[in-house]
Amino acid sequence: MKLIVQKFGGTSVAGLERIREVAGRVARTREKWERVVVVVSAMAGETDKLIEMAQALSPDPAGREVDLLLASGERIASSLLAIALDAMGVPSVSLTGGQAGILTEGTHTRARVRTIQPARILREMEAGRVVVAAGFQGVDRFDEEQTLGRGGSDLTAVALAAALEADLCEIYTDVDGVYTADPRIVPGARRLERISFDEMMELASLGAKVLQPRSVDLAAKYKLPLVVRSSFGESEGTVIMNEEAGLEAPAVSGVSCDREQSKITAVGVADRPGIAAALFGELAEKSIVVDMIIQNVSENGLTDISITVDRKGAGEAEEIMRKIHADIGASSVTRDDEVAKVSVVGIGMKSQAGVASRVFAALAGAGINIMMISTSEISISVIVNRELAETATRALHEEFIG
Ligand code: ADP
Ligand code: ASP
Ligand code: MG
Repeated sequence: MKLIVQKFGGTSVAGLERIREVAGRVARTREKWERVVVVVSAMAGETDKLIEMAQALSPDPAGREVDLLLASGERIASSLLAIALDAMGVPSVSLTGGQAGILTEGTHTRARVRTIQPARILREMEAGRVVVAAGFQGVDRFDEEQTLGRGGSDLTAVALAAALEADLCEIYTDVDGVYTADPRIVPGARRLERISFDEMMELASLGAKVLQPRSVDLAAKYKLPLVVRSSFGESEGTVIMNEEAGLEAPAVSGVSCDREQSKITAVGVADRPGIAAALFGELAEKSIVVDMIIQNVSENGLTDISITVDRKGAGEAEEIMRKIHADIGASSVTRDDEVAKVSVVGIGMKSQAGVASRVFAALAGAGINIMMISTSEISISVIVNRELAETATRALHEEFIG
């Protein structure tokens, strides 16, 4: 029996009128598909509001309380959608993550999906109901609520689609597909009809928030047919699929921009063996993901080591570096939150030379200084001053995509 999973993001369920529209769309889907599972995010802005309230009450609220609080946002949206569907004569049931069989593990507020036990969903579908699952959440072995990190409803949708062996997973959002760059930054960005899993993964993890990176990873693993579409119209959207670099593949398929970066520098570090190992060992122990690393040329036996991390982890990373700065012989530690990462992504880059020099020339042409550089097989990223991030994104889009 054909099964579809449809996920609706925050703006798609932002108010009662939007929820009614989504219900109408689900009702139409129901006419074509025998089994329908819907995943919803919290209403637009709700998660941010809940986080702000918790932080207003405490600088360091307990993870379990934050998770219980945040999970409520998605529950409100799922119940309202089920109520709207019932009112339209579409039998439906809303389920919390735990009721939907989403079992998690790991740290509060950034848990991983351990496994899915879909028995309840299967029973509900058997009884002819549309299942509306609250996104972004699950329960751990101790029956504690956990959330899956920002943007986690995408992961809920993909994980359910994989577990239920869905024929299609549609992600409905406020743009009508994946664009060559964030259309809010580059007005001339174009919608891509399709994009490879590899490129989508790279774009997502380098800051294009249209899909959460882990959801793309999981979809690729299960070869899940995945489409990004708009809930505001009938455009075809973007299909994410397995694709090899063709001979004609452009060097760059997309440009992404991540403003949530910080740069931390240990100044005047002793340039001798074992120093980097000590520094990065300590950071790894605290599960801090270090993105870029740069070590300056040594002068008088002293060097500077700079790293970039996600801004949310910057305070902790800085603290660790300050704590061990004496051990590694650093004279001081500095932190710069005013940086951003801008990246070009394309599988065509594998077979084309000169992409890096075009990146540097385009940025130089726009008068932008590059602080750090990193590359992967299909991407080149640079760290720039945050104020210049949008100009840099537009300059690179202009150079490679036009
Ligand atoms: P939702 O609430 O539906 O999950 P998100 O805000 O998480 O929506 O993601 C959609 C947003 O992602 C768009 O509004 C757009 O500004 C942004 N975005 C960033 N990069 C891209 C891109 N390459 N293509 C499309 N949208 C992008
Ligand atoms: N509501 C959560 C967030 O804002 C999860 C999601 O929307 O996917 O991050
Ligand atoms: Mg999202």
